[in-house]
Amino acid sequence: MLDFATGRDDAANEVRLRVRELVESWKSAGRFEPRPDNWMRGFDPEFSAALAEQGLIGLTWPVEYGGAGRRNVDRLAATEELLRAGAPVAAHWMADRQIGPAVLRHGSEELRRELLPDMLAAKSVYCLGMSEPEAGSDLAAVRTTGREAPDGTFVIRGRKVWTTNAHRASHIYVLARTDPAERKHDGLSEFIIDMTSPGISVSPIPDLAGQHHFNEVVFDDVVVPAHRIVGRRGNGWKQVVEQLSFERGGPERVLSSYPLLDQILADNKTADESFDEEIGRIVARLAVLRRLANRVARRMDEGAAPVQEAATLKLLGNGFEQDLVDLARRVSAGSVGPDTLVGQALMAMPGFTIRGGAADVMLSLIARQEVVA
Ligand SMILES: Cc1cc2nc3c(=O)[nH]c(=O)nc-3n(C[C@H](O)[C@H](O)[C@H](O)COP(=O)(O)OP(=O)(O)OC[C@H]3O[C@@H](n4cnc5c(N)ncnc54)[C@H](O)[C@@H]3O)c2cc1C
Repeated sequence: MLDFATGRDDAANEVRLRVRELVESWKSAGRFEPRPDNWMRGFDPEFSAALAEQGLIGLTWPVEYGGAGRRNVDRLAATEELLRAGAPVAAHWMADRQIGPAVLRHGSEELRRELLPDMLAAKSVYCLGMSEPEAGSDLAAVRTTGREAPDGTFVIRGRKVWTTNAHRASHIYVLARTDPAERKHDGLSEFIIDMTSPGISVSPIPDLAGQHHFNEVVFDDVVVPAHRIVGRRGNGWKQVVEQLSFERGGPERVLSSYPLLDQILADNKTADESFDEEIGRIVARLAVLRRLANRVARRMDEGAAPVQEAATLKLLGNGFEQDLVDLARRVSAGSVGPDTLVGQALMAMPGFTIRGGAADVMLSLIARQEVVA
């Protein structure tokens, strides 16, 4: 097993050990099976509540809002431990990673006080309503509308697709057009909507393995109170781009298949030596990517939303994960049934370069970096 310590950073290592202890106790009690991609597929509100009890959700959020007021570097240590263990964290992941931070960055005081406590206690579950049938990579093309009613509420109408865990969520984040605009990036706004609101319907979209985590969510004149708008009306594009850097800049783009690497390292003690060099290369690439993730976390600690660095991490991390799954498939010499780690990772793999933004889109974000002479 690789040592994941964060250099000589005692504060990060303290968080890391705390998470590791919790994860180990749950794993040894048989309360979860390590699985690839469990940050999206492993839904266990009890595990999320156990993390919440130890103050391990909202690690970076300010103390005045109930967070731990710690650095993104500390949060990175925590998330690395959860991912490498293949722990079931989907119930709180979206809130902790991006919706909580988005509410903290842009939400009104009323919205923060209303939503953050339940996120911190893992009592609310968030899903992301960004993509639509005609708006994926071109997210600004969303057709869902938020029309202001005479009483100041907004009426949401439209259709979102690929909404992970919408069938289990208590709240949905929605990007909608509130105003017509010449430039499609203008006139968009962000909302947080209760999934119990009248007019919302959720239907499953099974994935290629027949599993249900995606959904279609239809909004048929759903009334949303005005205070549930996040930030400024019409400023949604700028805000969602920032939010996507939180979505893309985490270690899940590198470590969602990590249980496979543990298995390879264990198996290879007895296996064919011809894989040694390839395994060495994979471990070295992982070290570089962890460094990059650390840099993204440090940029966030400086108050930035590091759009390009996050895109770079996602692009390189996705390539690393694909190569890791491929290596694991070859090392395991054919035992890739749906109950094996390799089989599960193979079925998750087609989504790696698409979810959170397609690889080509990451390339164009990276290409637009300012060139400093
Ligand atoms: C596992 C998984 C989970 C997901 N969960 C969610 C979720 O919870 N919420 C949510 O809102 N969405 C979710 N999505 C949707 C995801 O964000 C979109 O699939 C993604 O943004 C791509 O959009 P699209 O599928 O419409 O593909 P398209 O935009 O149609 O793109 C298809 C292909 O065309 C190419 N392409 C498109 N535009 C460009 C361009 N400008 N330059 C170069 N090439 C281009 C790319 O190669 C791309 O792969 C999820 C997707 C997956 C796979």
